[in-house]
Amino acid sequence: MPHALTLNAGSSSLKFALFELGDLSGAPAVRITGLIERIGGSSHMRAQRADGTTISDAPLPPEEAADHETALGRALDLIGQERPDARVVGVGHRVVHGGPDHAVPIVLNAEALEKLRALEPLAPLHQPHNLSGVRAALAAFPEAVQVACFDTAFHRHHPWVNDTFALPRGYYDKGVRRYGFHGLSYDYISGRLAEIAPHLHAGRVVVAHLGNGASMCGMIGGRSIASSMGFSALDGLPMGTRSGQLDPGVVLYLMSQEGMGADEIADLLYKRSGLLGLSGLSNDMRKLEEAGTDAAREAIAYFVFRVRRELGGLAAALGGIDALVFCGGIGEHSVHVRQKVCEGMGWIGLELDEARNMRGETVVSTDLSRIRVLVIPTDEEIVIARAVRDMLARRG
Ligand code: ADP
Repeated sequence: MPHALTLNAGSSSLKFALFELGDLSGAPAVRITGLIERIGGSSHMRAQRADGTTISDAPLPPEEAADHETALGRALDLIGQERPDARVVGVGHRVVHGGPDHAVPIVLNAEALEKLRALEPLAPLHQPHNLSGVRAALAAFPEAVQVACFDTAFHRHHPWVNDTFALPRGYYDKGVRRYGFHGLSYDYISGRLAEIAPHLHAGRVVVAHLGNGASMCGMIGGRSIASSMGFSALDGLPMGTRSGQLDPGVVLYLMSQEGMGADEIADLLYKRSGLLGLSGLSNDMRKLEEAGTDAAREAIAYFVFRVRRELGGLAAALGGIDALVFCGGIGEHSVHVRQKVCEGMGWIGLELDEARNMRGETVVSTDLSRIRVLVIPTDEEIVIARAVRDMLARRG
């Protein structure tokens, strides 16, 4: 039975999912989803079936998840035991950076992999890990088609004003551009909106992907026009541990006055800032909502404030707004954040229905609200699985 495996390799984690592909004409059907955390440390593997039942939820001995390669081996053992009939004919990879050239998924071979490696300086904290996942899969499945799906691809058609910084032109040519990220999530939401509300999909939509990483995207007709993330996955909204938009003068100050080097500043901005830095407590929104300390409340207030500012900015970039979509762990589950983001937004034509919001319905705006507000769970894995299926179908 032909199957696709999807892999999303982070710095110390590996997310995997197995999809049955059938005869390549229908939707890939998810069979297993799993996550190995803390690779190289005290690792843990969780995996479940499509019906939500648990296959595994247990620590892994260090030698079984010493690096991405051994972790993938462990995931494949689990898949083999659970679905011995699964023949993996394609592997899809989430790759954070596709550079300026890739607006669609590509088939990976040694040459393509080398080109993606050259992009590592553009995303030093993500790209090398994504590519170690690719290398591990190439070794494990030399016969399967390997497909890279880029987080930047969905945004590659931005108008120039949303693609550049006001630096001397040469930097743009060297690749210093506003790439935007979370493209697989936006791609999924765009497609889902086309299914459930085609008139909104055709219009002006702002999507707020609010998870541990967070960004917002303005779309017209399902295509990205602008995004809150720019050159790196640091820009825009504050995140679990990332600062979000920052005056570049702060970085100059840290260098010249505090004597900090690039690695220290990267550690500060990627790992010690955002909700964690502001609250001094946690990067986890749920914990902050439960904690209720002044610092936790202020961290949430800053997060909400930046989402609201970005919403106004994106609405202006789109020339108006017909719908706001919440997704990501916070967007999907935090009644409080959705309520605060939408509070007092009557002036723009947005009115939240408190009861619908509490119940987490798909549409959480009032019937009279000119702007529709929706909550749509995102699914990056299925976007990758579809790309693998399409690539296989094209190859015949
Ligand atoms: P990632 O970007 O790592 O995929 P997720 O999209 O899973 O992250 O989002 C994780 C965030 O969602 C965390 O901050 C978590 O606290 C938050 N979250 C999940 N469930 C809830 C909830 N019920 N209420 C508030 N926040 C929640």
